Amino acid sequence: MSLSRKQFLKVLGFGGLASGLGGFRLAAAAPAAAAVRPKMTIKDIEIYAFDLPLVAPFRISIGEMKAANDVLVRVRTDSGLTGIGEACPFPPITGETQATNIAAAKAIRDMLVGQDPLAIDAVLRLIGPIVHSNPSIVAAFEMACFDILGQAAGLPLYRLFGGNKSTFESDITTGIDTPEAMAASTKKHAGLGYKTLKVKIGVDPDQDFERLRAVRRAIGDGIKLRVDANQGYSVPQAIDALKKIAPLGIELVEQPVLASDLAGLKTVRAESPIPIMADESCFLPASALKLVAAEACDYINIKIMKAGGILNSIRIAHIADAANMRCMVGCMLESRIALTAAAHVVASQANIVYADLDGNADHTADPVVGGMTTKAGIVTMPEKPGLGCDIDPAFLKKMVKV
Ligand code: MG
Repeated sequence: MSLSRKQFLKVLGFGGLASGLGGFRLAAAAPAAAAVRPKMTIKDIEIYAFDLPLVAPFRISIGEMKAANDVLVRVRTDSGLTGIGEACPFPPITGETQATNIAAAKAIRDMLVGQDPLAIDAVLRLIGPIVHSNPSIVAAFEMACFDILGQAAGLPLYRLFGGNKSTFESDITTGIDTPEAMAASTKKHAGLGYKTLKVKIGVDPDQDFERLRAVRRAIGDGIKLRVDANQGYSVPQAIDALKKIAPLGIELVEQPVLASDLAGLKTVRAESPIPIMADESCFLPASALKLVAAEACDYINIKIMKAGGILNSIRIAHIADAANMRCMVGCMLESRIALTAAAHVVASQANIVYADLDGNADHTADPVVGGMTTKAGIVTMPEKPGLGCDIDPAFLKKMVKV
């Protein structure tokens, strides 16, 4: 059967075009022009320091933390909307501290008051260079701007970004300790319903094998186990260690060797029976490009605090996606404010298939209302517009304004 042009356009639903000027009449009936949005401006920024002690020290191969030493920013606009953001500096990895974040936050405050919080690209062009010294505080300000954008749009961020994952799985992490203590910790996590556990290693290949053997015995074979060496091994050590632990059923290993040694990471990847995930080797999107070009990893672990925010995190996911690579989104020791921001990234990107969003698991307080929730390893997204969480007013009264 052959169709005339008029019939063809009708089939496609373009009846107006098929009847000549009808299409132009439709266009003329549309609103003449969208109303020009009055510019929103940042009128005030509050900066707070707050600490969240851990129930026990958290040890990784390159350091130990006893508390999350965080910074909260509240960005107020002339429209009445307020956005919040959290910085969680992790000195062993990002080299910044709460004190350096606060100093940078004061400088950023001076740069941003009077600016449009919805013009996030412009905001990042102003404060972006600070990402090299204080990525976490850049992330906090960008998070607050995205919170405002989501509220203005009336959408939770992950839906604003085009995502549809309202739930997803997260693992939970056990720090370095004795084999007995790590076995007890992982058994407890499995008992809470987690189906995937992460265990820190990277001290000594033989000791690490003993740790993981104790863990596997404690949790049985039905639980997925991933490990993170946090750069703790030399290249030969990593190859030996990974061959030794592979029979214990290890899903993947994060950052077995020094972050800067991409050639070494590639060598380990070629020899390892366990897939390699880059973590500390990837801060900014440019590092993702280098990892892809070097063929140094199977996966990338993205963290908002390393990347300097949500947008750079999504850029890294897109670079990986273009290379047919999947990603994880991880965390430092954030509260549920920054964890929720990270969760919006996970929920919006199909190639982010792993999540390690347990930064608050050992906090002695939860200063957040709303936000993502985790039960038995399943994260549920908030559906309120914006970030979808706020600081608990009672906790805010105890925080130190700087
Ligand atoms: Mg890691």
